[in-house]
Amino acid sequence: MGELFSRRSFLITAAAALGSGLGSCGGNLRGAAAPGDPFSLGVASGDPAPDGVVLWTRLAPRPLDPDGGMPARPVDVSWSLAEDEGLTRGLRTGNAVALPQLAHSVHVEVAGLDPDRVYWYRFRAGDALSPLGRTRTAPLPGALPSRLRIAVASCQHLEQGLFTAYEHMLRDDVDVVFHLGDYIYEGAGQDKKVRRHAGPECATLEGYRIRYAQYKSDPALQAMHAAVPWIVTSDDHEVDNNYANDISEEKNVKPADFLKRRAAAYQAYYEHMPLRLAALPQGPDMLLYRRIAWGKLADFFVLDTRQYRSDQPCGDGNKPPCAEAMDPKATLMGALQRDWLFDGLARSGAAWNVLAQQVMMARVDRLPGEGVAYSMDQWPGYEAERRKVLQFLQERKIANGVVLAGDIHTNWANDLVVDFDGPGSTTVATEFVGTSISSGGDGLQAPKDLDKILADNPFVRFHNTERGYLRCELDATSWRTDYRTVPFVLKPGAPVNTRASWRVEAGQPGARKA
Ligand code: FE
Ligand code: CA
Repeated sequence: MGELFSRRSFLITAAAALGSGLGSCGGNLRGAAAPGDPFSLGVASGDPAPDGVVLWTRLAPRPLDPDGGMPARPVDVSWSLAEDEGLTRGLRTGNAVALPQLAHSVHVEVAGLDPDRVYWYRFRAGDALSPLGRTRTAPLPGALPSRLRIAVASCQHLEQGLFTAYEHMLRDDVDVVFHLGDYIYEGAGQDKKVRRHAGPECATLEGYRIRYAQYKSDPALQAMHAAVPWIVTSDDHEVDNNYANDISEEKNVKPADFLKRRAAAYQAYYEHMPLRLAALPQGPDMLLYRRIAWGKLADFFVLDTRQYRSDQPCGDGNKPPCAEAMDPKATLMGALQRDWLFDGLARSGAAWNVLAQQVMMARVDRLPGEGVAYSMDQWPGYEAERRKVLQFLQERKIANGVVLAGDIHTNWANDLVVDFDGPGSTTVATEFVGTSISSGGDGLQAPKDLDKILADNPFVRFHNTERGYLRCELDATSWRTDYRTVPFVLKPGAPVNTRASWRVEAGQPGARKA
């Protein structure tokens, strides 16, 4: 880990640079950081287990500086965690080192905690105290909790809209947030937007770090991270629009060069997310797929459909399916991840088996009326693999499959049928696609071709084009998804609506009006 500067020398050398961080210790979840506060990016927690959780922060007194305003040496950080907001009952403390090699981020994997319980935590660096965070552990493997409430978010383009949705999510009393990708967007700063990306299109470690720091400076996003643990996975824009494994959006980029960019992007992602050490990137590789169990209530299979996928067939857009889309070797997950998923599903004893992943699985025809066009960037571009997944769910009688997705900035509730060409084909799972937090700007309550979309795609039960997030509540016998929407994101203060609610009854796959 290299030679550490003593706590004393850090205090002396950093005191002037950091200024007083005491302004941040308000004892509540909100509160904008004071200038020079090393905890300007807030705190977060993630990947809850029955006995522990990851606590995250990053020291960055000047978040938009390439080095975050930190000296190029390791810095000691301490943490406290307790059962109460005052951090006294069952107090646990520990030390961590914020390394410059990881942008002075800290990922503490606290263990030895009680299952199914709320905890509060805080970091300290020198004299500076972080905002207070709240988190929780998962239930024991054999336990059946009475209910779980989750929020599902994706696609938060900083320039295209405000993150008002998170202000409402904060009041929804959810246990866990799932973020399904497009946490940042990599593009260069553009004029005449709600906010402006700092810097050019991200391509270097420095560039991605600045981008994450800018996004994580958003107070609504910070408050939501401080309130509950998040379970995150990334999609394309954390690296490059529509990338596939080692293939860039720009077709003239050599795979070896793109992998250097991917390594930088993955490292910055790890540095800014509450992920376990298992996800620490090794060069361009990052192990992001994992199972998060919620007792016997739910197994969440968090997927990575970018890192191992074969290139989009016949181009990335909406197309009639070409031969390559039917290629049995084409893959979104890669063989290793698919084997891991099938093995986990086969062993699962959970009431609900949830695929928390990026792209829509239902084969939705995006061309209204005559002719068909499917998105080649989503599961319909990888027809054979989608069939394998749905057939596996059917043949192995996997209990209550639910697919969660984001990516397309619109809401959908879909019945996942084994054969999308067969009329009356068996529904084997249910898909809930959540819209964007802000990407795309103000949404519309009803898309102009809604009737035609529904007529062309009888398995689509609901579609909506507003901004927002999903709020899901599940118990052993039923799952309810509320489509929480905000009417605008281009100015602050949007109210929240529950535009629609759909449910699934255990043992009866398919969405029903709630
Ligand atoms: Fe997006
Ligand atoms: Ca995307």
